[in-house]
Amino acid sequence: MKIGFVGLGIMGSAMASNLLKAGYKVTIWNRSPDKYSAFLDLGATVANTPRVVAESSDVLIAMMATPDAVQSVRDGDEGIIAGMSSGKGYVDMSTVDADTSLESYRLAHEKGALFLEAPVAGSRKPAEDATLTIMAAGDQELYETSLPVLEKMGRKILYLGETGKAARMKLANNLVMCGMLTSLSEGIALAAGSGLDTAQLLEVLDSGAVTNPMFRLKGPQIAANRDFPTAFPLKHMQKDLRLALKLAEEVGQPLFVTATINELYKKALTENLGDADFAAISLVIRNK
Ligand code: NAP
Repeated sequence: MKIGFVGLGIMGSAMASNLLKAGYKVTIWNRSPDKYSAFLDLGATVANTPRVVAESSDVLIAMMATPDAVQSVRDGDEGIIAGMSSGKGYVDMSTVDADTSLESYRLAHEKGALFLEAPVAGSRKPAEDATLTIMAAGDQELYETSLPVLEKMGRKILYLGETGKAARMKLANNLVMCGMLTSLSEGIALAAGSGLDTAQLLEVLDSGAVTNPMFRLKGPQIAANRDFPTAFPLKHMQKDLRLALKLAEEVGQPLFVTATINELYKKALTENLGDADFAAISLVIRNK
């Protein structure tokens, strides 16, 4: 099976590398061509446009930043859809809203192609280690044919049903994760501000019911309150909060805590923390 990969950011570059290392023939495209050199060493073919990637592959995978970024590579004369035809598949692994996915599904089907949304949970390291959780929804036939490819990127892979369900599941997942990390930042800020040893707070947390890998990874960074190496850019987490709140409004579900946390993340963006890791929210929260 020939694979196309569009979007070589933090996640896409690790995922595409794993496909190349697994022996797949992969054609790539990225807005910024400076990302190509590492892939050429792995044997990738570079295409001039997303349309050419689609024309050159059986299954095209995209991993884009935002719904706008999805549109910009999907639509138009040189977009993914222009290169789609019967027998091909379009797998969008970006975190977007269900409306964006449903439009991708509609456009792919207009060209006789199949569509699968497949957003992921797990950050830079799980992407490198091929241990992502992949939530898939859309055309089951494409899910089944692309499963061996997904298995080269993820460890836990779920098929959730019709298009839109995976996008919504991903947003529900991320608001939980963001709430946990924000609470951790507040707990560490309170401990530091009241003369406690933050390392001991992390030890206490790690020995109780809230122990989890994210606290283990990000806790020491937040306790140090500096050096937040970017695994998940803060601007993308704010996008996910915004999309979760939009979904909540559509279905009439109040999200009291998420709405407040979103304001905090908006403040962080005004402080130019968008490209830092989302754990840098600590810089906005902590007084000392
Ligand atoms: P990233 O490093 O910012 O990469 C984003 C990709 O989108 C890059 O290839 C970028 O191209 C491209 N892009 C952005 N705007 C574009 C536009 N207008 N036109 C064309 N291309 C555009 O993001 P990431 O961390 O890999 O995340 C990708 C997706 O996965 C996001 O939806 C994110 O929410 C989700 N996600 C991320 C993580 C994580 O921990 N990082 C975890 C789970 C899910 P350039 O290289 O030219 O900028």
